Amino acid sequence: MAIHVETLKALQQEISEKGAKLIAVSKLHSKESIQQAWAAGQTVFGENYVQELVEKQPLLPDQLEWHFIGHLQSNKVKFIAPFIAMIHTVDSIKLLTEINKQAAKANRTIPCLLQVHLAQEETKFGFSEEEVVELLTRGDLEKFKHVVVAGFMGMASLTDDQNLIRNEFHRLKVLRDHWQTRYPSLLELSMGMSGDYRIALEEGSTMVRIGSAIFGERTKT
Ligand SMILES: *Cc1c(COP(=O)(O)O)cnc(C)c1O
Repeated sequence: MAIHVETLKALQQEISEKGAKLIAVSKLHSKESIQQAWAAGQTVFGENYVQELVEKQPLLPDQLEWHFIGHLQSNKVKFIAPFIAMIHTVDSIKLLTEINKQAAKANRTIPCLLQVHLAQEETKFGFSEEEVVELLTRGDLEKFKHVVVAGFMGMASLTDDQNLIRNEFHRLKVLRDHWQTRYPSLLELSMGMSGDYRIALEEGSTMVRIGSAIFGERTKT
């Protein structure tokens, strides 16, 4: 199936003009679709499922940058640690500990984002803002030598209320700005998807994650 190349190019331009990075979310899309995006100049791809990612990754050019954006189980970290460029969805110290261990084995340092629960929905994964504050106050992130905590990731509520979405993104930026003075590596804010990326960019997003607008609807489940 053909991807939406014109939309991809327009998004690349709009997002880079704002100084942010486009993560093309290719979950449940074929390697052919990813190759089409690569041919259109897209280098960064986001995937949600470990097994799918480890099947696709060897079939595509080594220069592709893979970002993990799905819920990650500790026992699966070892499969992606050798090549993953960034993990956006760290939601526990247990997971961070395992990423550090597997990164050491792979002789790498893996950039990670702490996933912060912003939305009103109950079901989303992530640390609460209080938990993040507690974690950063304790100051034991330095003990993880093979991970760099590079910022925060957050998803806004699924709502038409633009102000609510904006406030949720804004809270994450305030949190990042506050803690960046103590942790200069907190540079990234992964926020914004197809429906809300413009608000996210206005609120300081550095990475937006867009899938269906580029690749079309996901048919496989
Ligand atoms: C699937 C997914 C996206 C992309 O969603 P689209 O609606 O296809 O743009 C972004 N972020 C996360 C965490 C996702 O799981």
